Amino acid sequence: MNFFLTDEQQALREAVREFAEEEIAPRSAEYNRRHEFPRDNFRRLAELGYLNMQLPEKYGGQGLDWVSYTIVVEELARACAATAVIYEVHSSLHSEAIYRFGTEEQRMRYLPRLSRGELLGAYALTEPGAGSDAAAIQTRAERRGDVYVLNGQKAFITSGGVADSYIVFARTDPAPGHRGITAFIVEKGAPGLRFGPPERKMGLHASPTTAMYLEDCRVPVANRLGDEGQGFAIAMAILDRGRVGIGAQAVGIAQAALDDALAYARQRHTFGKPIAEHQAIAFKLADMATEIDAARLLVYRAAFLLGQGRPCRREVSMAKLFASEVAMRATTEAVQILGGYGYMEDYRVERLMREAKVTQIYEGTSEIQRIVISRELLRGLREEAAVR
Ligand SMILES: Cc1cc2nc3c(=O)[nH]c(=O)nc-3n(C[C@H](O)[C@H](O)[C@H](O)COP(=O)(O)OP(=O)(O)OC[C@H]3O[C@@H](n4cnc5c(N)ncnc54)[C@H](O)[C@@H]3O)c2cc1C
Repeated sequence: MNFFLTDEQQALREAVREFAEEEIAPRSAEYNRRHEFPRDNFRRLAELGYLNMQLPEKYGGQGLDWVSYTIVVEELARACAATAVIYEVHSSLHSEAIYRFGTEEQRMRYLPRLSRGELLGAYALTEPGAGSDAAAIQTRAERRGDVYVLNGQKAFITSGGVADSYIVFARTDPAPGHRGITAFIVEKGAPGLRFGPPERKMGLHASPTTAMYLEDCRVPVANRLGDEGQGFAIAMAILDRGRVGIGAQAVGIAQAALDDALAYARQRHTFGKPIAEHQAIAFKLADMATEIDAARLLVYRAAFLLGQGRPCRREVSMAKLFASEVAMRATTEAVQILGGYGYMEDYRVERLMREAKVTQIYEGTSEIQRIVISRELLRGLREEAAVR
């Protein structure tokens, strides 16, 4: 048992923190105010080699472990949650899907360009009628010769319209259930593909979210990811990686809230002393710090197990559930600690509170994480009973 980061992980944290504090954080408020995709941030992440750093060098990565990956997501989110989710969807949902389930030809065709930032990747599972119940998707894919023709609608797609390449899930078998779902790599210029306008959201304004319409959208058979019918398994395997990333994003948002609350509580005076010296405020800070540490440890554990290739769906869901709930509590407390100023847009904590909320919703809501955890607990009990 060892609770210390390795020297390499520690050096990575210092490097990405310095970069995020110097380059990402100062631009974040403005990008979000203008609802603008943070193009400069993405370009710099590519230049500095942070994109797809978990992939082998052959595909443009650095072969780094999953704990290192979560460190990068956390530090980015601490500076700009919108940049962090764009990075997370690109690296773990999109690129990892191609790496883990693509043919060698597909890997070589996409991954080096995704790693260099020449392409931006996205992930399109959700539909207007199917979010938590992903097996209920209705987008159809019919094979006609050497193309599939896709028809349907996707909802809430991060980087929609901006991204160059999308992992799209569609039904090759019209029978209900998860068995008839297949995954495809769909390029932005595919005939019959169009996007809705950016959704007007509570937060993450610099991360565009759009609907996606597939109308007789033709996708070459060469762009099918995995086998027909393997799509649901791909979606779930990839979400394990994604959820660890969202856990890390939540920890980063919560840490930013604690940073701001601590700084404010030390300089704001009431009744003749800094508010940090009123026990009611000091205890809030103590609780925030304790919960953030616990969330970070759960995220590290899940990332470590993922990297070891061990079964860890329960640990991944625990990390995502706890970290996102902590982010919501910590950001709400930070607004409280800043009092009236906390409610003003001039201070970052109101934005952090709006950004924390989505970590309880996307890549599986908190309710869905509880379903996964409880199912795994009950399965464990059944297995124990069977052995006895
Ligand atoms: C900003 C943003 C970005 C997103 N980006 C992407 C993306 O890039 N790609 C993508 O595919 N999707 C994306 N999503 C979609 C997101 O993953 C879904 O919104 C999420 O999974 C929830 O699905 P839903 O909105 O359909 O809610 P529903 O599934 O309709 O759930 C509604 C409520 O019911 C609860 N609920 C549902 N089923 C159960 C149950 N069995 N037991 C108890 N409670 C239940 C849910 O927890 C929730 O509280 C994004 C969403 C947002 C907000």
